Amino acid sequence: MGAEPGLTEEQQRYLEGFMRGIAAKLGNGASGAADPALDIHRAAQDRFLAQGKSLVPEELAKREGHPLDMWDAIGANVAAARFPKGLDVFRHKFFGLFYAAPAQDAFMCRLRMPNGILSAHQLRGIAAIAEQHGGGYADVTTRANLQIREIGAAHAIAVLTSLQDLGLTSRGAGADNIRNITGSPTAGIDPQELIDTRPLAHALHHYILNHRELYGLPRKFNIAFDGGGRIGVLEDTNDIGFTAVRVEAGAGIEPGVYFRMQLGGITGHGDFARDAGVVLTPGQCVPMAVAVVRVFIASGDRTDRKRARLKYVLDAWGIDKFMDAVVAEAAFAPARLPVSACTPRGPVEKQGHIGIHPQKQDGFSYAGIALPVGRLGVKEMRGLADIADALGSGTIRLTVWQNLILSDIPDAHVAALEERVAALGLATRVSAVRGGLVACTGNTGCKFSATDTKGQARIIADYLDARLALDQPINIHLTGCPNSCAQHYVGDIGLLGIKVGEDLVEGYTIVVGGGAGGERTLAREIDANVPMADLPARLERILAAYLAHRRDSAESFHDFSARHSVDALKRLFAGPD
Ligand code: SF4
Repeated sequence: MGAEPGLTEEQQRYLEGFMRGIAAKLGNGASGAADPALDIHRAAQDRFLAQGKSLVPEELAKREGHPLDMWDAIGANVAAARFPKGLDVFRHKFFGLFYAAPAQDAFMCRLRMPNGILSAHQLRGIAAIAEQHGGGYADVTTRANLQIREIGAAHAIAVLTSLQDLGLTSRGAGADNIRNITGSPTAGIDPQELIDTRPLAHALHHYILNHRELYGLPRKFNIAFDGGGRIGVLEDTNDIGFTAVRVEAGAGIEPGVYFRMQLGGITGHGDFARDAGVVLTPGQCVPMAVAVVRVFIASGDRTDRKRARLKYVLDAWGIDKFMDAVVAEAAFAPARLPVSACTPRGPVEKQGHIGIHPQKQDGFSYAGIALPVGRLGVKEMRGLADIADALGSGTIRLTVWQNLILSDIPDAHVAALEERVAALGLATRVSAVRGGLVACTGNTGCKFSATDTKGQARIIADYLDARLALDQPINIHLTGCPNSCAQHYVGDIGLLGIKVGEDLVEGYTIVVGGGAGGERTLAREIDANVPMADLPARLERILAAYLAHRRDSAESFHDFSARHSVDALKRLFAGPD
C-alpha cells in the first residue's frame, strides 16, 4: 500500500481504517442523499425518461448523487492506493482528477485559474506538487491552464489539498462542467484592449465554485472573454464567447464598451459560435452567462453524449427562441444591437503571444515565452517564477497557445530577462513554426489519441526549421482524435491523428486555412491518411508552395489558402512527382 505523503505510520493506519469504514458504508462512492443542487438536473433528466428514453450512464451517475460529494470515496481510494473504477472514473473528474489508463496508469490533475493568470508563488507550488506527487512536469493546455501528470493513486488527496493551500483549485476542471474561464492574456496591460477581462473571469470563476447546481451539465462547457487586445483567445470557439466592442454615440444606447455574446462554438463539430444579437454591459456578463448555463442545463440532451453540447440545442431551437428563454431566466433584457452597429475590435497579432512587447503602462513590457508543445519541467517552472519575481510583478499569464507571458517588466530589465530565459533553455524569439505550434496531450497521456501529437510536433518543427525560413506567422495544430482539444480546424495547418493502413501506423489528416476571430474559417481537408513518416516532407511541400505562390510577402498563409479552392490547393501542394 502506498503511503499518504507527510503522515506518520500511526496516522497512516488510522486514515486507512477510517477510509475503509467510510467506503464500506458508501459502497459505490456516491452518497445518494437528496440534494437541492441536483433538482434542476433531475428535472431535465425526467423529461427524457417521460418520453421513454434512456439516460446515458454518466447521467445515471450524476442522478444518483452529486459527484462533488466524492471526497470520502476519493480518500478511501487514496488509503488503498488504488485508482477508481467504472463510473467513479467519471466522478473523479469533477475534482479535476483524470485516471489516464491505459495511456498512463496514473492520474492527471487539471487545474483551473481564471483568465489563465497565476502568481510566481503558485507556479513554484505547482512545481513542488509535480515533483513530489507527479511526473516532475506540467503541461499548459489550450484553455490557458495547467495539467500535472503521472500522479500516483496514493497522492490524489495530497495534490488536491496542496492546490487549495496555494489558493488554486481543480474543482470542475473535467467531466460535464464549466471549464477554466479564459480571458485575454494581456488583460490590463495591452495598449489596444477595450477592457480588462480579469475581473469578469475572476467573478464568473468564483460564482461557479460557489454554486453546486452549476456542476453536472449535459456536457462540458467553455466560456471565454475577449477584451479586444492584441492576442486572441479564440472566444468564438467557446460555448459562450464574450467579445468586447465599442458602441459609438447614435447607436441608440449609451456609448461605451460592451460585450457581444456568441453562443454554441464547437469547431470539432464544425461550428463557430453564433452571435446572439445582444450587447451586454460588463456588469451583465456574469448573470447572463449563468442564465445561459441554466437554460442549457434544462434543455441539453441527456441521452446522447455526442449531441449533448449547447450547439445542438441552438440547432434545434434557433438562436431567437434560445435567447428568449435566457432573457426570461436572467430576468433582465440586454440591449439588442446588430453587429454592424458596433465598432469591430482591433487586429489580432497572430504570434503576439511570443516576444517582447510594450505594455500600455509606459516603461514596461511583457515577454511571451515559447514553451515546446506547452511542457514545463519543474526546473523551468521554478526558474520562470524566479524571473517573474525578480524582474517583473511576479505575474504569470498562460495563453491558449500553450505558452506563457511574464508581465510588468521594466524596459531596463528586458535584456536581463531574455538572458535568464535563455539560461533555462527557453526563448522569447523562436521560428514562425515553433511560435504557433499547438499539440494536444497525445497517446502518451490520453487514451483517445491515435498519435503521439506532442512528440511528433517537435519532429515536425525540427524538420521544417532546418529547411524553411518562414517570414509570416503560421499556426500548426496537432490533435490526436476528433475531440479536437488542439482545435485543428482553426489552425493554418491542422493535423488530425489517425491510424493509417493495414499496419495501423500513426498518421494524420491534413486540413488547411483555418482561423478564428477576424480569420474565422474552418480549415479544409487537403489530404488524409498521411503516415507520420511522410508528414514532415509533406508539410514542407505545402509551406514551400505557399512561399512560391503567394501574392507577395505580406500575404498570410490563411489568406493564401482562402483564395484557392481545395482542388487548386491540392494541385499547388502536390509539387513535382
Ligand atoms: Fe485526448 Fe483527443 Fe483531447 Fe487529444 S484531442 S487530448 S487525443 S481527447
